[in-house]
Parts: sequence; C-alpha cells; structure tokens
Amino acid sequence: MKNFMVSRYAALEAYVPGEQPRDMEYVKLNTNESPFPPAPGVMAAINGEELEKLKLYSDPEGKDLRDAIAAHFGVKRENVLLGNGSDEILAFAFFAFCAGEKVLFPDITYGFYPVYSELVGANAEIIPLKEDFSIDINKYMGDRGMVVIANPNAPTGMALPLADIEKIVAANPSNVVLVDEAYVDFGGESAVNLVKKYENLIVARTFSKSRSLAGARLGFGIASEGLIADMNKIKYSLNPYNINRLTLLAGKASIEDVEYFEKNVRAIIEAREYTVSELRTRGFTVLESKANFVFAAKEGKSGEELYRELKARGVLVRHFTKERIKDYLRITIGTKEQMNVLLCKLDEII
Ligand code: PMP
Repeated sequence: MKNFMVSRYAALEAYVPGEQPRDMEYVKLNTNESPFPPAPGVMAAINGEELEKLKLYSDPEGKDLRDAIAAHFGVKRENVLLGNGSDEILAFAFFAFCAGEKVLFPDITYGFYPVYSELVGANAEIIPLKEDFSIDINKYMGDRGMVVIANPNAPTGMALPLADIEKIVAANPSNVVLVDEAYVDFGGESAVNLVKKYENLIVARTFSKSRSLAGARLGFGIASEGLIADMNKIKYSLNPYNINRLTLLAGKASIEDVEYFEKNVRAIIEAREYTVSELRTRGFTVLESKANFVFAAKEGKSGEELYRELKARGVLVRHFTKERIKDYLRITIGTKEQMNVLLCKLDEII
C-alpha cells in the first residue's frame, strides 16, 4: 500500500496504552485506575436534563469547572486550563514550549514524553535515572530547554521532595518546567503553591486516578496566567470544545466532594502499604512508592514470566520491555480484596 504519511513522522513511535481487554473479567491492576466509583454527586449531575443539552456545544472556556478547581487550589480561573485528560495538558505544553526546540526528561518515566517530543519535533535530552531509580536533579540545572518531571515518577512511583522541584524550577528561569502530578494525591508534595512564585512552572493534574474519572477524560494545568494563555492558543488552534458537557459537570461534582476524595485516597494508601509489606515478605524488591501503584521485581523470575502467569490466572498488571526495567512489574493498587487476590496468585506462581 502506498504510504501517504508525511516523512517527518517516519520515526514517530506512538504511545501504547495499557490493555483494556474484553475477553474475561480480570482483576485489573494495569492502568492505575481507581477501584472506587466516582463521587456520588457525579452520578447525580449527569442527569436526563443534561443529556438533552448534548445537542449544544460545551462551554469552550469551561468556566464553572475552572472556578471550582481554582477555588479548591486557591488560585484564579486564569491560572487553570482544562484538558481532555492530563495527556492533553502535556500535549499543549509540548506544542507551546518545546516544538522544534530542546526538552529534557528522564530515561525511565511516563512513556508519552518521548512520543510528544517526537511529534512536535523537539530535540530530547534523555537523562538517566540514578542506579536506585531516583531522579538526579543536578542534571536539570542548566536552563537548556523545557524540563518535564513526573512527580511522583512513573513507573517507579518514587517522589522528589518539593524543595528539589523548586531548585529545578528556580534554576531554569528562561525555560518552562512541567511537573506532571498525575499521582501526587497518594502521598507526594504538590508544587501548585509555587505557581504564584514562578512564572515558568506548569503543574499538570488529572481526575483519572484519585478521582475515579479515567473514562471521563479530564485533566488540568495550573500555571501563571501567561503560560495558560500560551497553552490556550494551542487549544484554540486544535480543539476549542475539548471537554464535553458531561465531563464538565462530573469534574465539578468530583472536586467539590472533598470527604469522599480523602476517604478513597486513604484507602489506597493503606492498601499500598499492606501490599508493599506483603510483597517484601515474599522476597520482592519494591521501590518506595508515593503513587497508586508499586514497582516490584522478584529475583529468579523475569517480569515477562510473572506478567504472563498472573494474566493466565486472571490478574492483569503492567510489564515494560525496556532493558533497565524489564524485570519489574507495575502493579496498580486496588482494594485490599483485589490485592489479596494478587498475593494469592503470586503464591501459586512462586
Ligand atoms: N501522567 C502520567 C505520569 C501518567 O501515568 C498518566 C496516565 N497514563 C497521565 C499523565 C495521563 O493521564 P490522563 O490523561 O488520564 O489524565
């Protein structure tokens, strides 16, 4: 077949999302979703009246939801940008701040960064994590290009202290520092409050993990007014109505229910600490996680083998083939009952 695609994408390797299989019911611990349903207010907000309004476009400015997010974080509406998932916030930032220019991120991190980098024709400087999988902040101090750091990092789950994030932001005054806080609610320290102090900082957040809305596709960026305006220019050049009506309502109901959110986060952290300790008892190496997943390896068993044997027993986890991490599994933290199924299947396998 003739290839119609432009040559500049010849080297582009697209992102490969985790499996969403339909062949059987799995204990699904592979894509860092929440095991809990969205807040009760979400179900109430998406009612028949609103379904009828689907004939009308959604608010391109997402004012009500941005106001609710701004109130929650103590910033102004102008400091908030909504994305169709935080992936879209990342995409807007890559287009706006490093297309055709330099970007720096770790070798082991969220797999979408190299994809966006290639898509926008950036020149990526990929900086290896230290031997212990921690981020070497000294390597990000040169003000050489946009810096992208996931904090906590994925798939390691390891977090940098806020003081280290601030050092990176302060050391790169002529470049944007994008801190991807998809997992920060599970024990990390957020950089949101630094947005008032540094005009070069963007914090990307998501409703997909701690707020149980992965399927609604909702994320947001918090940054100085200037950076938000720049990213809006990209948004209005691609897809002005990027958030649908139902998701706008779902997000507002979710962010307003603080109690439900905190209860679920506490349950995940408790299940994580239980899982880490049980895995270590079974001889697993488990990295220190501040996320809703753990990264674990068992000497004498390859990651690939463990992944396959768990899948055959109905437990789905994520395995990456990259050399440095090929013996690790990334295991999403579900309910304690789900984690007990995982542990029980591991006992059968080992
Ligand atoms: N950042 C990181 C580090 C992630 O792991 C994910 C989830 N795949 C995302 C961002 C994007 O999540 P979403 O688009 O669902 O907000």
